[in-house]
Amino acid sequence: MSAPAATTATIVSLRHVGKTFDSGTTALAGFDLDVRGGEFVSLLGPSGCGKSTALRIVAGLSAPSAGTVAWPQGERRIGFVFQEPTLMPWATVSANVALPLRLAHADSRTTDSAVAQSLARVGLTDFSGAYPRELSGGMKMRASIARALVTEPDLLLMDEPFAALDEISRFKLNNDLLSLWQSLRRTVVFVTHSVFESVYLSQRILVMSPRPGRVVAEITIPAAYPRDEEFRTSAEYAGYCRQVAQALAAAMAGERAA
Ligand code: ADP
Ligand code: MG
Repeated sequence: MSAPAATTATIVSLRHVGKTFDSGTTALAGFDLDVRGGEFVSLLGPSGCGKSTALRIVAGLSAPSAGTVAWPQGERRIGFVFQEPTLMPWATVSANVALPLRLAHADSRTTDSAVAQSLARVGLTDFSGAYPRELSGGMKMRASIARALVTEPDLLLMDEPFAALDEISRFKLNNDLLSLWQSLRRTVVFVTHSVFESVYLSQRILVMSPRPGRVVAEITIPAAYPRDEEFRTSAEYAGYCRQVAQALAAAMAGERAA
């Protein structure tokens, strides 16, 4: 019935973040973001607006060229799910999921039990010995999510994880991700260019302008969880989608006016 209670406390706060690459491309300018503990928040924007850049800066994988990134309650353990599942083709599913723990020199008993638990969470227990080539696109993404969860991160950053999947697989993974979020009670920042996906999943949607990206609108989706196929086909859902699509269109129009 209810979503994990989002504490109102901010866990990470970006202020006036800018990013200009050596090539001279400015991906972000004046980018502000507050992520609250326990929430499911999406960054929504057109391709090339700087979503991945923003997520990489939150993860510490890229340094901002302007502005600040603050962790008011101390830094959090982060799990990152990339758009491509990026699995090692020569290694089994369980070896792929174990990688972050092996890199951290965890002992093998800890690793084995964490891997088993992580695979169970995403429904891949029966495929622990399979190789990536034997998996469907959806299953590869599940393995990638299991790998991100194996270190028990507080903050899960997901960069268009389901964009390459067919719609039926994407809907299924959306539902499974929401169940995971409800049971694990972690914070999720989800990047997507899909209005429909952002509304289905999120408590809060931050709409970005075209490049250089910044957040230009915030829309709260107060619909209750669990959200299911009934929600997906409801007038309520359609209404939120229309509202978010309008905000995105306004953000795009801002570019032409500039
Ligand atoms: P999105 O994820 O919203 O599609 P990105 O953050 O990947 O957008 O990219 C934003 C802009 O920055 C794009 O114009 C992209 O080409 C550029 N960009 C991204 N990464 C780099 C990089 N490492 N070097 C140069 N330009 C980059
Ligand atoms: Mg991207």
